[in-house]
Amino acid sequence: MLSKKEIKIGIIGLGLIGGSLAKVLANSGYPVYGVAHSDNTLKKATELEIFHEVSQQIEILEGCSVIFIATPINTIDLIFKKLAGTLKSPCIVTDVASIKAEIVQLAEKTFDPDRICFIAGHPMAGTEDKGTDAAFPDLFKGARWVLCPADNKRKAQINLLSDIISDTGAIVVYCNPQIHDLAVALISHMPLMVSMGLIESVNSQEDFVLKENAFYLAASGYRDTTRIAGGNARLTFDMLNYNKKNVLKALDIFEKSLKNLRETLDKPEEDQLEKYEEISDIRKGLYSDSGNNIFRGLSG
Ligand code: NAP
Repeated sequence: MLSKKEIKIGIIGLGLIGGSLAKVLANSGYPVYGVAHSDNTLKKATELEIFHEVSQQIEILEGCSVIFIATPINTIDLIFKKLAGTLKSPCIVTDVASIKAEIVQLAEKTFDPDRICFIAGHPMAGTEDKGTDAAFPDLFKGARWVLCPADNKRKAQINLLSDIISDTGAIVVYCNPQIHDLAVALISHMPLMVSMGLIESVNSQEDFVLKENAFYLAASGYRDTTRIAGGNARLTFDMLNYNKKNVLKALDIFEKSLKNLRETLDKPEEDQLEKYEEISDIRKGLYSDSGNNIFRGLSG
């Protein structure tokens, strides 16, 4: 079995996710090789002094055991092609994008599976911030990290990747790419739309006094329900457009739920309270005080 020092990790994209991954894996004892995009990110990443090597050239990743791609979704196709044309020795490649079905298809089209073992991934962790400066090593602590292996034949590679991810403090879970994409539409991408809708509801008021008062009075409830609306516009665009089919499905589901809740308002007090308590109980069972998901499955 290889020691951590012998497992070279490559990371392409050194922003919030890639930078955080670099920090936690370097702290954990892995040699980390980083590929930056802009000169500014290259400078910032070099100043961190955590990388074995950091460069704008993908060629430095030759010989890495595992390569994480942590760049915006619209860059992944090109990066796959570059990796396929550059890497000579066998390695595991994974990504962190918030959509999976299309990425898995792209990988199948691009990589020779005898040379590059692609295992799609998605850490269920993030913040509204972006860039290397926003990265911190505890980002993944207690978070779930989805892996979507194409099949179960590559057990050794799946186990190695899973061990490395566990060293970030994340909990590895396995999921089918199509189920992943609809699930994240329901719990991440559609809620982003709803969160932006909450801002728009106030912002679209023509009555200046009402609009000004509403924003002026907005306290913790509005802060919590609109937090994700203040995020990275590039990622918002990518999530909504690359997963559009599922986002639209999830919006239909949400509109139906809202319609049902609206109808609840016409029901007697005890029926309303029963519904509100049911929803409150579900919410209370989802997260720990520290904010991590503690849901243990529908059968408990
Ligand atoms: P980010 O902070 O904006 O970082 C993206 C990084 O990618 C930047 O450092 C950018 O470099 C770099 N980059 C862009 N094009 C590149 C290229 N061609 N080659 C190498 N690097 C390139 O965004 P992020 O939040 O880390 O998101 C990265 C990925 O993580 C996305 O696929 C997203 O879906 C996924 N993700 C994000 C979250 C979240 O909450 N943020 C959660 C889970 C997964 P420059 O700044 O130098 O241009």
